[in-house]
Amino acid sequence: MLTLEKKDNECQIGRDTAMQLLKDKIISEGIVKAGGVLKVDSFLNHQIDIALYNEMGKEFARLFKEQEVTKILTIEASGIGIACIAAQYFNVPVVFAKKMQSKNLDGDIYTSEVESFTHGKTYTIRVSKKFISSEDKVLIIDDFLANGKALVGLIDILEQAGATLIGAGIAIEKGFQEGGKLLREKGINIQSLAIVKEMDENRIVFE
Ligand code: 5GP
Repeated sequence: MLTLEKKDNECQIGRDTAMQLLKDKIISEGIVKAGGVLKVDSFLNHQIDIALYNEMGKEFARLFKEQEVTKILTIEASGIGIACIAAQYFNVPVVFAKKMQSKNLDGDIYTSEVESFTHGKTYTIRVSKKFISSEDKVLIIDDFLANGKALVGLIDILEQAGATLIGAGIAIEKGFQEGGKLLREKGINIQSLAIVKEMDENRIVFE
């Protein structure tokens, strides 16, 4: 009993660390741009804070450790770093959906269309059929959840492959946009480390 209590306590500390570190960074370095865009390029989207990524990776592992994840799926570019650090705790490969057509991407591919929140354009994401199969149990990881279009595109690819979706680990969810609600209503296990309830130039409030 004592051991269990201690473990719970330790888990709680780990959880608090990852979420608090991320929230502190958002508060101190995040910039709210027009159109509901949160700019976090000093630690997440351009320059990368590896200590923070490491805490986030550990936390995703704790949240999904009960499921037998065989692969992590993300989308280029910003999801890749977070997914790779997290993958070390799961000991599984990372597959990232490509946004560009490339000569290196040959053979059979799964594709899906994604409407970009930040660019306002629709683009095609591509994953080689070699790297996701019906045997896979997949955890999706991404940096942001806004309207949920990126997640819907990745889930579409998993459905085409017949793979099992374990859930999605998200660094920052903007709770005032509809993606999280819509996807949770479909029964998808979405775990976001920081959920922004409201934000403007003067303040950022978390759920
Ligand atoms: P969604 O598809 O959920 O509408 O948007 C998620 C994707 O758009 C993420 O992969 C992320 O790259 C980008 N994104 C959405 N909202 C934001 C934001 O406020 N800030 C940043 N930096 N990226 C965002």
